[in-house]
Amino acid sequence: MTNLDQILKNISEKAEKIGRPIRLMELCGTHSETIARYDLKNFLPSNIFLVTGPGCPICVTDQTEADVIVGLALAGVSIAVYGDALNLPGNLGSLEEVRQKGADVNVVYDVTDALRLSQKKGGLVFWGIGFETTTPATAWGIKQGLTVFSSHKVFVPAMKALLKNKKIRIDGFINPGHVSAIIGTEIYEKFLFPQVVAGFEIDDVLLAIDMLLNQIISQKPCVKNEYTRLVKKKGNKRALKIMEDVFEVRNGFWRGLGEIKNSGLKIRKKYQLQDAEFIYKDLILKIKKNITIKPSTCRCGEVLQGMIEPKECPLFGKICFPDNPQGACMVSREGSCNIEYRADR
Ligand code: SF4
Repeated sequence: MTNLDQILKNISEKAEKIGRPIRLMELCGTHSETIARYDLKNFLPSNIFLVTGPGCPICVTDQTEADVIVGLALAGVSIAVYGDALNLPGNLGSLEEVRQKGADVNVVYDVTDALRLSQKKGGLVFWGIGFETTTPATAWGIKQGLTVFSSHKVFVPAMKALLKNKKIRIDGFINPGHVSAIIGTEIYEKFLFPQVVAGFEIDDVLLAIDMLLNQIISQKPCVKNEYTRLVKKKGNKRALKIMEDVFEVRNGFWRGLGEIKNSGLKIRKKYQLQDAEFIYKDLILKIKKNITIKPSTCRCGEVLQGMIEPKECPLFGKICFPDNPQGACMVSREGSCNIEYRADR
């Protein structure tokens, strides 16, 4: 019997012992990718359900913020962005659509790339997206003189918001491995709930499920770390320090989850000359005032909270697919709808 067979056997025995349906939410797009790639849902006992949470940074980016960055591009501001945000649809179109119409939109692979391009062009705005995984690099870029429009988010408040929503029933979290490498595990101990920080190999995810079932059986919710080869209790102190120096928390706006207290990151006043929100304050106000909201039947909001499966959206695979995304969850390769669509094929 291989190690994987043994873990699956343990999971089956524990699932049988529990008896009732168990819903475990994975909080990182890379976990969703692993689960889909190995068709894991079909190997689990019938009472264990894996649901996807708000772990894809592009997917949870607020629509108004996406519209503002497109509005800046349309107004002639040079923009640098990670490739997976290029096709995010919005009320003013996507960055790719406006790029095709002549706006100066540049895909970059990392912050050093954005910095080089900025120096070459004599300035641009880098769209900072993501959780604590990408924020330290953005903070470093700002310290080097890069101008940033911050859509960065803090992850833990979103987890707490999910738990407060009575419409969402979750029995345990598979905590995000990348984010946890930065923030550590101690921070999750602030709320009592079954949680396991997991790596991204198939055996990592299976072990995390097994460890969550242990907590559910013993009725002793806690935080366990399966990803010990990378994640430490206190996280990455250097990364946390540079984030703290450059950013301060503010309320964040999440697609699907709405406004969540202290879940967003704003550039501190001492770096305001690198803050696009400060530099283009008047233009941003004008853009926001002129946005006309297009009607949409996209159900990303429910997908991101594990309330429906992507396939329950009537647009899935019909008019919404990776080459023609109608919503954020189909755009990035970490988006639940995108992953489900590719896994199907
Ligand atoms: S399938 Fe498309 S339209 Fe439906 S929820 Fe997913 S992204 Fe939105």
